Amino acid sequence: MISEEQLHTIDNHIHDWLKGLDELMPSLISDLKTDTKSSRFDLVTNVDETIEARFETFLKTHYPDHQLYGEEFHHQTDTLKTGHTWVIDPIDGTANLVKQLNDFCVILGYFIDGQPVLSYIYDYARQHIYKAVRGYGAFVNGEKIEPAVSKPLKDMIVSFNNKVMNDQTIHALLDQSFGYRLIGACGLDSIRVITGQFGAHIHTNAKPWDIGAQFLFAHELGLKMTNFKREGIDFTQGGPFIISNPGCYDEILDILNSDGGYQKV
Ligand code: NAP
Ligand code: CA
Ligand code: CA
Repeated sequence: MISEEQLHTIDNHIHDWLKGLDELMPSLISDLKTDTKSSRFDLVTNVDETIEARFETFLKTHYPDHQLYGEEFHHQTDTLKTGHTWVIDPIDGTANLVKQLNDFCVILGYFIDGQPVLSYIYDYARQHIYKAVRGYGAFVNGEKIEPAVSKPLKDMIVSFNNKVMNDQTIHALLDQSFGYRLIGACGLDSIRVITGQFGAHIHTNAKPWDIGAQFLFAHELGLKMTNFKREGIDFTQGGPFIISNPGCYDEILDILNSDGGYQKV
């Protein structure tokens, strides 16, 4: 582990790095270049690639013994659970960036020997930096985020991708919740849970970089974050993911797991 002082030094340094993106973003966005990866919906832009490359340079310069695991270029997973590891999704919500110039974010998670110690989700368009610091809680632009207040599903909004579940599961979630909204960026849908606006966000196949920050927010705020078997998620693997207010968690998992499960047949 590291000392409190080192933790705060790194926190300040990362905060400055994220704010440094403010100078870069306008020119990257005005020169937006979009490519497709595996399908016409699987987008990557110069913004995603530049931010990840920039973070790599930052680590190499200031923290050369820290490892990087990122969506675009950094896929080595052998030693991530030992020592200092950063997980980055340089742009989460790339489709939103391309189509709406809004509702995208940078996700960063810092782990020491597999334990999350610092986490950030930067909602650039709204200029909100969300962070969690192990032992100190969670903050938005320096203001403390209150721990979760338990609420039942009938009073809460749920968010999930409606392309990936069978109709019966979708209708059960709609019927038993207050309502449905989807932002379309795992980090920002999770933020709505973190701030108490949504009851839960569900992603049936999250990649490690989609959820690298959420572990610590959940830990600090008393939210549930597990797979659909109510087990912890390996931060190097990802997989089925729910982040939830504790008051709706069991109700949602009962729905996802009932009558043969949520998957399309
Ligand atoms: P989208 O707007 O492209 O993305 C919505 C969120 O899902 C973002 O956080 C995005 O991260 C992430 N995402 C994008 N592609 C993904 C993939 N292949 N697997 C897992 N996460 C992904 O979403 P969409 O247009 O609705 O769907 C695009 C594809 O992603 C589809 O194949 C969809 O089935 C899949 N997807 C699956 C789930 C799920 O719960 N299984 C959820 C969302 C999307 P980036 O912006 O960093 O790519
Ligand atoms: Ca993502
Ligand atoms: Ca991404």
